[in-house]
Amino acid sequence: MKFNTKTIHGGQIPEKGYGAVMPPIYQTSTYSQSSPGKHQGYEYSRTHNPTRHALENSLASIENGQFGLAFGSGLAAIDAVLKLFKPGDEIISTNDLYGGSYRLFTKLFEKYGLKFHFTDMQDLNNVKSLINLKTQMIWVESPTNPMMSIVDIKELGKIAKANKILLSVDNTFATPFLQKPLDLGADIVMHSATKYLAGHSDVVLGALVTDNKKIADELYFIQNASGAICGPMDSFLALRGIKTLHVRMARHCENAKKIAFYLESHPRVEKVFWPGFKSHPNHTIAKSQMTDFGAMISFTSKGNNYKAAISIVENLKIFTLAESLGGVESLAGHPASMTHASIPKDQRELSGVVDSLIRLSVGIEDVEDLIEDLKQAIG
Ligand SMILES: *Cc1c(COP(=O)(O)O)cnc(C)c1O
Repeated sequence: MKFNTKTIHGGQIPEKGYGAVMPPIYQTSTYSQSSPGKHQGYEYSRTHNPTRHALENSLASIENGQFGLAFGSGLAAIDAVLKLFKPGDEIISTNDLYGGSYRLFTKLFEKYGLKFHFTDMQDLNNVKSLINLKTQMIWVESPTNPMMSIVDIKELGKIAKANKILLSVDNTFATPFLQKPLDLGADIVMHSATKYLAGHSDVVLGALVTDNKKIADELYFIQNASGAICGPMDSFLALRGIKTLHVRMARHCENAKKIAFYLESHPRVEKVFWPGFKSHPNHTIAKSQMTDFGAMISFTSKGNNYKAAISIVENLKIFTLAESLGGVESLAGHPASMTHASIPKDQRELSGVVDSLIRLSVGIEDVEDLIEDLKQAIG
């Protein structure tokens, strides 16, 4: 089955009761047994739920893995991965990481004895030099937030294999429509399905996919033992979103490309961060591991003026000023005062999050309207 067909049919089994074409929302916590231990495969909804099951099968199918797991949020999914490890274990990650992941790593799991190293993965020697006998996992995102850096997943996969450690990829920004980390050598793929997979800004949900039975069994154990599952209604919404992932992503990318080039030509715009530009430092890697360049764009305006950036995001009319990304509607954010406000100014500027940086999640509206909106807001 090819990808577009998989988004609709992948891993789905016909509903037997009434022939429902869409998987029903099984809003139930428990299931009847004819005799103790005799049931139809479902006992209790923390452990299994048919609607969540349908979503998990779909997730596995679109990421080319055998095993899918759904959680109450993206961070709950990452939390489950971290519980694979024990005190003393070490994890290597990027220094340009989603803030919530960074907070979970450093504020929670360091307390339980895990050790995290954050490094610039543009130079893979940095990763190699951090690997020791305690290293258990490399954790990456690509493209990164909000600077749109690309890491070489295939090369990292080789490093991970050679050292018998896991490679996990947060594939939230790219989605399997653009990039399939398991095919590139990753062991675990993670999603904030809140974003593009569900795609309509109406649900918070997380996902993991792996092709490794041993890891899958451990993760299923953690999912049931810790219990951070998603409910049947949210599972249904995410599954419904996935069915249109391919058509949404194609339009997201098409619109973003036009907007990236428009911004690049704007006299008041200083720099545009989008991996589709030939001038992007990782363009070649992006081209080799992604089928298109995604719909997340950051840009700075000339003069690096905090007030001017605030005024641009306030003046936008179709782009909504909001956290999050990946929905059908276009969103804009100002990282320095929103997502990255908790990081000291000198530190955040080191990673490129300057006062004038604005991040766009380009939606699937008519691109002429989006460009017109940017034009009137930037002035
Ligand atoms: C939003 C996000 C997360 C966290 O997911 P939640 O669903 O909000 O818990 C993790 N990684 C990336 C890249 C994200 O954008």
